[in-house]
Amino acid sequence: PGAPELQALQHADVARLLPVPAAESDKYRRGVVGVVAGSARYPGAAVLAVAGALRGGAGAVRYVGPAGDAVLARYPETLVHPGPPGRAGRVQAWVIGPGLADTPGVADVLASDVPVLVDADGLRLLDPAAVRARPAPTLLTPHAGEAAALLGTVREDVEARRLDAVRELAGRYGATVLLKGSTTLVADPSPGVPVRVNPTGTPWLATAGSGDVLSGLTGSLLAAGLTARDAGSVGAYLHGLAARRAATGGAGVSPTGAGAYPYDGGRAAPGA
Ligand code: AMP
Ligand code: MG
Repeated sequence: PGAPELQALQHADVARLLPVPAAESDKYRRGVVGVVAGSARYPGAAVLAVAGALRGGAGAVRYVGPAGDAVLARYPETLVHPGPPGRAGRVQAWVIGPGLADTPGVADVLASDVPVLVDADGLRLLDPAAVRARPAPTLLTPHAGEAAALLGTVREDVEARRLDAVRELAGRYGATVLLKGSTTLVADPSPGVPVRVNPTGTPWLATAGSGDVLSGLTGSLLAAGLTARDAGSVGAYLHGLAARRAATGGAGVSPTGAGAYPYDGGRAAPGA
Protein backbone atom coordinates (compact mmCIF):
# COMPACT_ATOMS: atom_id res chain seq x y z
CA PRO A 1 0.00 0.00 0.00
CA GLY A 2 0.92 3.68 -0.24
CA ALA A 3 2.88 5.55 -2.88
CA PRO A 4 5.41 3.71 -5.05
CA GLU A 5 9.03 3.97 -3.92
CA LEU A 6 10.35 4.63 -7.41
CA GLN A 7 9.10 6.74 -10.28
CA ALA A 8 10.52 6.79 -13.80
CA LEU A 9 10.49 10.24 -15.34
CA GLN A 10 8.39 10.20 -18.54
CA HIS A 11 9.08 12.15 -21.70
CA ALA A 12 5.74 13.96 -21.32
CA ASP A 13 6.78 15.13 -17.82
CA VAL A 14 10.00 16.54 -19.24
CA ALA A 15 8.17 18.26 -22.08
CA ARG A 16 5.84 19.87 -19.54
CA LEU A 17 8.60 20.93 -17.13
CA LEU A 18 11.14 22.17 -19.67
CA PRO A 19 11.40 25.98 -19.49
CA VAL A 20 10.59 27.60 -22.82
CA PRO A 21 11.07 31.37 -23.07
CA ALA A 22 7.81 33.28 -23.38
CA ALA A 23 7.36 36.32 -25.65
CA GLU A 24 7.83 38.71 -22.72
CA SER A 25 10.87 36.89 -21.28
CA ASP A 26 14.07 38.67 -20.44
CA LYS A 27 17.36 37.21 -19.26
CA TYR A 28 16.41 37.49 -15.61
CA ARG A 29 13.13 35.68 -16.13
CA ARG A 30 14.97 32.93 -17.95
CA GLY A 31 17.38 32.72 -15.02
CA VAL A 32 20.94 33.74 -14.20
CA VAL A 33 23.23 30.86 -13.19
CA GLY A 34 26.37 31.42 -11.13
CA VAL A 35 29.12 28.86 -11.71
CA VAL A 36 31.95 28.41 -9.20
CA ALA A 37 34.22 25.82 -10.77
CA GLY A 38 37.66 25.13 -12.19
CA SER A 39 41.16 25.63 -10.91
CA ALA A 40 44.64 26.11 -12.34
CA ARG A 41 44.84 22.35 -12.51
CA TYR A 42 41.35 21.73 -13.95
CA PRO A 43 40.33 24.80 -15.97
CA GLY A 44 38.33 22.63 -18.38
CA ALA A 45 35.75 21.73 -15.73
CA ALA A 46 34.80 25.42 -15.56
CA VAL A 47 34.36 25.60 -19.33
CA LEU A 48 32.17 22.48 -19.36
CA ALA A 49 29.97 23.57 -16.45
CA VAL A 50 29.45 26.95 -18.15
CA ALA A 51 28.67 25.13 -21.42
CA GLY A 52 26.00 23.04 -19.72
CA ALA A 53 24.43 26.11 -18.14
CA LEU A 54 24.37 28.07 -21.42
CA ARG A 55 22.88 25.21 -23.40
CA GLY A 56 20.40 24.46 -20.63
CA GLY A 57 18.72 27.73 -21.54
CA ALA A 58 20.02 30.15 -18.91
CA GLY A 59 19.37 33.85 -19.52
CA ALA A 60 22.96 34.51 -18.45
CA VAL A 61 25.84 32.67 -16.84
CA ARG A 62 28.18 34.27 -14.32
CA TYR A 63 31.48 32.50 -13.81
CA VAL A 64 33.45 33.01 -10.60
CA GLY A 65 36.90 31.45 -10.32
CA PRO A 66 40.43 31.31 -11.71
CA ALA A 67 39.58 29.93 -15.16
CA GLY A 68 37.91 33.07 -16.53
CA ASP A 69 40.25 33.35 -19.51
CA ALA A 70 39.59 29.78 -20.61
CA VAL A 71 35.84 30.26 -20.16
CA LEU A 72 35.81 33.53 -22.14
CA ALA A 73 37.92 32.07 -24.94
CA ARG A 74 35.22 29.51 -25.59
CA TYR A 75 32.10 31.38 -24.42
CA PRO A 76 32.48 35.16 -24.69
CA GLU A 77 28.86 35.59 -23.56
CA THR A 78 29.86 34.57 -20.01
CA LEU A 79 29.93 37.25 -17.30
CA VAL A 80 33.22 36.65 -15.49
CA HIS A 81 33.82 37.84 -11.94
CA PRO A 82 36.98 37.40 -9.86
CA GLY A 83 34.99 36.61 -6.72
CA PRO A 84 34.11 35.95 -4.04
CA PRO A 85 30.71 34.59 -5.13
CA GLY A 86 28.83 36.88 -2.72
CA ARG A 87 30.02 39.91 -4.74
CA ALA A 88 29.29 38.57 -8.19
CA GLY A 89 25.93 40.28 -8.72
CA ARG A 90 22.48 38.88 -9.29
CA VAL A 91 22.31 35.09 -9.48
CA GLN A 92 19.17 32.91 -9.36
CA ALA A 93 20.94 29.58 -8.78
CA TRP A 94 24.52 28.62 -7.97
CA VAL A 95 26.49 25.65 -9.26
CA ILE A 96 29.62 24.93 -7.25
CA GLY A 97 32.25 22.24 -7.38
CA PRO A 98 33.40 20.90 -10.76
CA GLY A 99 37.20 21.00 -10.91
CA LEU A 100 37.57 23.12 -7.77
CA ALA A 101 40.89 22.32 -6.19
CA ASP A 102 39.82 23.90 -2.94
CA THR A 103 36.46 24.73 -1.38
CA PRO A 104 36.73 28.41 -0.40
CA GLY A 105 33.56 29.55 -2.16
CA VAL A 106 31.29 26.89 -0.70
CA ALA A 107 30.44 28.70 2.54
CA ASP A 108 29.71 31.90 0.61
CA VAL A 109 27.42 30.13 -1.82
CA LEU A 110 25.63 28.14 0.89
CA ALA A 111 24.98 31.43 2.71
CA SER A 112 23.01 32.74 -0.29
CA ASP A 113 19.23 32.60 -0.35
CA VAL A 114 18.94 31.02 -3.82
CA PRO A 115 19.02 27.34 -4.89
CA VAL A 116 22.48 25.77 -4.88
CA LEU A 117 23.79 22.70 -6.71
CA VAL A 118 26.91 21.17 -5.13
CA ASP A 119 29.02 18.71 -7.14
CA ALA A 120 32.44 17.08 -7.09
CA ASP A 121 35.04 18.88 -4.94
CA GLY A 122 32.33 21.12 -3.49
CA LEU A 123 31.02 18.03 -1.70
CA ARG A 124 34.21 17.65 0.32
CA LEU A 125 33.94 19.03 3.84
CA LEU A 126 30.26 19.75 3.32
CA ASP A 127 28.64 20.41 6.68
CA PRO A 128 25.18 18.79 7.04
CA ALA A 129 24.08 21.46 9.55
CA ALA A 130 25.02 24.29 7.16
CA VAL A 131 23.10 22.63 4.34
CA ARG A 132 20.06 21.92 6.52
CA ALA A 133 19.94 25.54 7.70
CA ARG A 134 19.67 26.95 4.15
CA PRO A 135 16.54 28.95 3.36
CA ALA A 136 16.53 27.75 -0.28
CA PRO A 137 16.78 24.29 -1.88
CA THR A 138 20.11 22.47 -2.13
CA LEU A 139 20.84 19.76 -4.70
CA LEU A 140 23.83 17.48 -4.20
CA THR A 141 25.07 15.56 -7.28
CA PRO A 142 27.61 12.93 -6.16
CA HIS A 143 28.74 9.87 -8.12
CA ALA A 144 29.04 6.68 -6.08
CA GLY A 145 32.57 7.46 -4.88
CA GLU A 146 31.60 10.95 -3.71
CA ALA A 147 28.43 9.58 -2.06
CA ALA A 148 30.56 7.00 -0.24
CA ALA A 149 32.84 9.73 1.10
CA LEU A 150 29.82 11.68 2.36
CA LEU A 151 28.43 8.57 4.06
CA GLY A 152 31.78 7.47 5.49
CA THR A 153 31.77 4.22 3.57
CA VAL A 154 33.23 2.74 0.38
CA ARG A 155 32.03 2.95 -3.20
CA GLU A 156 31.16 -0.77 -3.38
CA ASP A 157 28.78 -0.34 -0.44
CA VAL A 158 26.98 2.55 -2.16
CA GLU A 159 26.78 0.59 -5.43
CA ALA A 160 25.28 -2.37 -3.57
CA ARG A 161 22.48 -0.28 -2.02
CA ARG A 162 22.03 2.77 -4.21
CA LEU A 163 18.41 3.41 -3.29
CA ASP A 164 19.09 3.30 0.45
CA ALA A 165 22.24 5.38 0.04
CA VAL A 166 20.57 8.20 -1.89
CA ARG A 167 17.71 8.38 0.61
CA GLU A 168 20.06 8.32 3.55
CA LEU A 169 22.06 11.22 2.11
CA ALA A 170 18.92 13.24 1.38
CA GLY A 171 17.78 12.75 4.97
CA ARG A 172 21.13 13.54 6.49
CA TYR A 173 21.65 16.78 4.55
CA GLY A 174 18.02 17.83 4.30
CA ALA A 175 18.76 18.24 0.59
CA THR A 176 17.70 16.76 -2.72
CA VAL A 177 20.33 14.24 -3.83
CA LEU A 178 21.05 13.13 -7.39
CA LEU A 179 23.16 9.96 -7.29
CA LYS A 180 24.92 9.61 -10.65
CA GLY A 181 25.75 6.34 -12.33
CA SER A 182 24.40 3.84 -14.80
CA THR A 183 20.95 4.44 -13.30
CA THR A 184 20.74 7.94 -11.91
CA LEU A 185 18.44 8.36 -8.89
CA VAL A 186 16.99 11.59 -7.47
CA ALA A 187 15.79 11.55 -3.86
CA ASP A 188 13.90 14.28 -2.06
CA PRO A 189 14.53 15.03 1.62
CA SER A 190 10.80 14.87 2.42
CA PRO A 191 9.79 11.37 3.44
CA GLY A 192 7.25 9.56 1.30
CA VAL A 193 8.23 11.26 -1.97
CA PRO A 194 9.10 8.61 -4.59
CA VAL A 195 12.71 8.48 -5.76
CA ARG A 196 12.96 9.43 -9.43
CA VAL A 197 14.82 7.05 -11.73
CA ASN A 198 16.26 8.41 -14.95
CA PRO A 199 15.47 6.13 -17.90
CA THR A 200 17.77 7.77 -20.48
CA GLY A 201 21.21 6.96 -19.07
CA THR A 202 23.79 5.52 -21.44
CA PRO A 203 27.36 4.35 -20.84
CA TRP A 204 28.39 6.80 -23.57
CA LEU A 205 28.21 9.31 -20.71
CA ALA A 206 30.99 7.53 -18.83
CA THR A 207 33.65 9.94 -20.04
CA ALA A 208 35.66 12.69 -18.39
CA GLY A 209 33.86 16.01 -18.13
CA SER A 210 30.40 14.57 -18.52
CA GLY A 211 29.39 15.26 -14.91
CA ASP A 212 30.60 18.86 -15.20
CA VAL A 213 28.18 19.45 -18.07
CA LEU A 214 25.33 17.90 -16.06
CA SER A 215 26.02 20.33 -13.21
CA GLY A 216 25.69 23.40 -15.39
CA LEU A 217 22.70 22.05 -17.30
CA THR A 218 20.86 21.23 -14.08
CA GLY A 219 21.84 24.58 -12.56
CA SER A 220 20.15 26.38 -15.47
CA LEU A 221 16.92 24.50 -14.71
CA LEU A 222 17.16 25.53 -11.04
CA ALA A 223 17.69 29.14 -12.10
CA ALA A 224 14.61 28.93 -14.32
CA GLY A 225 12.56 28.04 -11.25
CA LEU A 226 12.22 24.25 -11.33
CA THR A 227 12.26 22.53 -7.95
CA ALA A 228 15.48 20.71 -7.05
CA ARG A 229 13.75 17.37 -7.68
CA ASP A 230 12.47 18.43 -11.09
CA ALA A 231 15.70 20.17 -12.10
CA GLY A 232 17.76 17.13 -11.14
CA SER A 233 15.57 14.62 -12.91
CA VAL A 234 14.99 16.74 -16.03
CA GLY A 235 18.73 17.54 -16.18
CA ALA A 236 19.66 13.85 -15.99
CA TYR A 237 17.00 13.00 -18.58
CA LEU A 238 18.22 15.56 -21.14
CA HIS A 239 21.86 14.70 -20.49
CA GLY A 240 21.24 11.02 -21.25
CA LEU A 241 18.99 11.70 -24.22
CA ALA A 242 21.50 14.04 -25.80
CA ALA A 243 24.35 11.56 -25.34
CA ARG A 244 22.24 8.84 -26.98
CA ARG A 245 21.51 11.07 -29.92
CA ALA A 246 25.15 12.10 -30.24
CA ALA A 247 26.14 8.43 -30.19
CA THR A 248 23.95 7.50 -33.15
CA GLY A 249 26.80 8.39 -35.50
CA GLY A 250 28.78 5.47 -34.07
CA ALA A 251 31.76 7.59 -33.07
CA GLY A 252 32.68 8.22 -29.44
CA VAL A 253 30.79 10.86 -27.50
CA SER A 254 32.57 13.65 -25.68
CA PRO A 255 31.25 16.72 -23.89
CA THR A 256 32.38 19.08 -26.64
CA GLY A 257 32.57 16.70 -29.59
CA ALA A 258 30.03 14.84 -31.73
CA GLY A 259 27.80 17.81 -32.51
CA ALA A 260 24.62 17.22 -30.60
CA TYR A 261 26.05 16.32 -27.21
CA PRO A 262 24.75 17.24 -24.74
CA TYR A 263 22.55 20.07 -25.70
CA ASP A 264 20.56 20.73 -28.80
CA GLY A 265 19.43 17.16 -29.31
CA GLY A 266 18.02 17.00 -25.82
CA ARG A 267 14.91 18.91 -26.70
CA ALA A 268 13.61 16.57 -29.37
CA ALA A 269 11.55 13.45 -28.76
CA PRO A 270 13.44 10.16 -28.41
CA GLY A 271 13.78 8.57 -31.81
CA ALA A 272 12.63 11.75 -33.57
P1 AMP B 1 31.01 12.19 -13.22
O1 AMP B 1 31.11 10.90 -12.46
O2 AMP B 1 30.86 13.37 -12.36
O3 AMP B 1 32.09 12.35 -14.25
O4 AMP B 1 29.65 12.12 -14.05
C1 AMP B 1 29.50 11.09 -14.99
C2 AMP B 1 28.17 11.22 -15.70
O5 AMP B 1 28.04 10.11 -16.57
C3 AMP B 1 26.97 11.17 -14.79
O6 AMP B 1 25.91 11.90 -15.40
C4 AMP B 1 26.63 9.67 -14.75
O7 AMP B 1 25.29 9.41 -14.44
C5 AMP B 1 26.96 9.27 -16.18
N1 AMP B 1 27.41 7.88 -16.26
C6 AMP B 1 28.60 7.38 -15.86
N2 AMP B 1 28.67 6.05 -16.10
C7 AMP B 1 27.50 5.71 -16.67
C8 AMP B 1 26.96 4.48 -17.17
N3 AMP B 1 27.66 3.34 -17.11
N4 AMP B 1 25.71 4.50 -17.69
C9 AMP B 1 25.02 5.65 -17.74
N5 AMP B 1 25.48 6.86 -17.31
C10 AMP B 1 26.70 6.89 -16.78
MG1 MG C 1 32.32 14.61 -11.52
